[in-house]
Amino acid sequence: MDKVFELISKEKERQEKQINLIPSENIAFEGVYEAVGSCLANKYAEGYPGRRYYQGNGLVDEIEILAQERGKKLFGVEHLNVQPYSGSPANSAVQMALLEAGDKICGLKLSAGGHLTHGHPKITFSGKYFESVQYDVEEDGRIDYDKLAQLVEQSRPKMIMAGTTAYPFILDWEKFGKMADLVGAWLVADISHIAGLVVGGVHPSPSPFVDVITSTTHKSLRGPRGAVIGVTKKGLNKDIDLAKKIDRAVFPGLQGGPHMNTIAGMAVAFEEAGKPEFGQYAKQVVANAKALETSLRSEGLKVYGTENHLMVVEVGFEKGKEAAVALEEAGIVCNANTIPHDKAGPFEPSGIRLGSPMETSKGLKEKDFEKIGKKIGEVIKKLGEGD
Ligand SMILES: *Cc1c(COP(=O)(O)O)cnc(C)c1O
Repeated sequence: MDKVFELISKEKERQEKQINLIPSENIAFEGVYEAVGSCLANKYAEGYPGRRYYQGNGLVDEIEILAQERGKKLFGVEHLNVQPYSGSPANSAVQMALLEAGDKICGLKLSAGGHLTHGHPKITFSGKYFESVQYDVEEDGRIDYDKLAQLVEQSRPKMIMAGTTAYPFILDWEKFGKMADLVGAWLVADISHIAGLVVGGVHPSPSPFVDVITSTTHKSLRGPRGAVIGVTKKGLNKDIDLAKKIDRAVFPGLQGGPHMNTIAGMAVAFEEAGKPEFGQYAKQVVANAKALETSLRSEGLKVYGTENHLMVVEVGFEKGKEAAVALEEAGIVCNANTIPHDKAGPFEPSGIRLGSPMETSKGLKEKDFEKIGKKIGEVIKKLGEGD
């Protein structure tokens, strides 16, 4: 057997055997693998359905339209672009469509649970070509919406990015909407992490309050590795050409041929995620996270959260990486993460980030997560003993 397939088979075994608590990871729906590994990967389809540059695209047109229609219903949007290669290029496309170089963009700091593409200064596309205004969380890990509204009023950004990668609380879309409207800023909800919870009905949808929704499809949503950009009714009311501007930014602005195999995988996932069973799954994800939180607290650990699928746990000054390594040795996979206002740097943060989506997909319930919490408590306590 080719070495590559040997390694894939070992990785499959690892994913099955280890306890995976990385909140951005999941197990895709069965049909997604089939679509992504199909002959659709061979086809070039630059352009959009009905307007392609090459011939032979009749069938992939039908597939892309299926993905768009299913996704529009799922996310509650008027228009959906399903071509972004991943979450980061999706955000870049929105910024390219609606901002000029030097315009102001406002996003949550990376160290507070924001994403690199939300204006992280200097080293990212969004932080290098736009003027970045970043907001932080409070001591308790929560966004202070009054304080943020003040910052927005003073700095008057042209775009506000609302979305998170390590924020354990429900986001108040209405408040974001009000502050954006006050200064006439574009409001983008990046629901990459929580998409499965939103469409599963356990986190409010941003759709009525924002102009644009971006999301990866491979995290809590259990789809293929990719992303979508949705335009809401509110967004279209502001600018009738918003959908066209975004489509043009994705192609030909930033990307070439769309990955039709991935788009087919999205169509499969959107159908699955629209079923009542997926609502049950989303509920279980939150219930399991809550059970883990309760268990960790009874182990004496300080936990930020949770109201969603993830939490941040304090493990000691600069001990995050050490904790993550020790946990991996114990069969539990997670990642080191900054805690709110971490005095330690991002390479040696003081916390770990834990989430429930992947193990919930494997069928684990509250009782299992209680046990996992105990085990984590034991490992973290041993860390202290070495000092
Ligand atoms: C994961 C994530 C992204 C980036 O997605 P990639 O597919 O890794 O590029 C963007 N925004 C948020 C909020 C995310 O959680």
